[in-house]
Amino acid sequence: MKENLTPDAATHTVYLCQLGPIVSCGACCGLYNVADPDPRALEAMLRRRTRWFADAPRTVAGIDAFKARVESIEPQTRPLPDFHHCPYLGMIEDTGRRVGCLLHPLATGNHGLDWRGLSYYGGMACRTYFCPSVRHLPARWLTVVRQSMDHWYLHGLIVTERKLLTAFFEELENRIGRPVNESDFSEGNVTSLLFSTFAALKLNWPFRRNGSPGVCNYFFEDGQYLRSAVGRIVDGIPISPFETIFQELDSSFSSTGDVDEAEERLETIFKPLTRVLKNG
Ligand code: SF4
Ligand code: SF4
Repeated sequence: MKENLTPDAATHTVYLCQLGPIVSCGACCGLYNVADPDPRALEAMLRRRTRWFADAPRTVAGIDAFKARVESIEPQTRPLPDFHHCPYLGMIEDTGRRVGCLLHPLATGNHGLDWRGLSYYGGMACRTYFCPSVRHLPARWLTVVRQSMDHWYLHGLIVTERKLLTAFFEELENRIGRPVNESDFSEGNVTSLLFSTFAALKLNWPFRRNGSPGVCNYFFEDGQYLRSAVGRIVDGIPISPFETIFQELDSSFSSTGDVDEAEERLETIFKPLTRVLKNG
């Protein structure tokens, strides 16, 4: 992730990597590709790394030893085995607490030295990579994400969901008959809360198929770990108007009633959101 870039410094107009004291993203560093991605477990892991890193000598040997220590205690089984999880993800603890890179020159104790060259991807990739969502989604949609997310955990989960976000905003814009704009969403208002509710479907989606990797999303464009079509356990379960959303939530349905219930869950978000945005 690129903590030191501002929107102006970045190539892309909407910057989503580090947003505020408790909002940031580490998804491209493999944040969620862990055996237990529960928010409390993830936070405890990141805080422990930060404590350990504070004592690590800032030398190649010291940083390598830190990595070995981390990997000796943390489970190395991963939902997506070929998606690298970086042991140098930790917590930035200043006016808030958010996920961030321990090797970054601005991280505590690094005194301006950039140690990211020691990472798996190498310093150049760490400094310059931007995920497909940031590179390809319209700025107005990314701005909604930016204005709506109030915590790093859910922020990083939804940012990379390019197809899910596309399906969501296309549906919404069809319903309201116009593009969304910046003034439609702001922190704490009802529209932002409804967007957050949509994002949070990833956390507790009851129709997630057996064998799904869970919340972790592989978004690199190399054809690996593509999401399956929606599962239908028996014949005759209809295709839904929300098929893309259901696919991106990694769904499987065992009855038509399941589809009805899943659609209803989405309508409890889309209907009030549409009403508010249409009525101003
Ligand atoms: S996944 Fe995207 S938004 Fe998140 S840190 Fe990486 S480039 Fe930034
Ligand atoms: S070293 Fe690179 S991959 Fe690891 S946390 Fe830092 S930016 Fe991410």
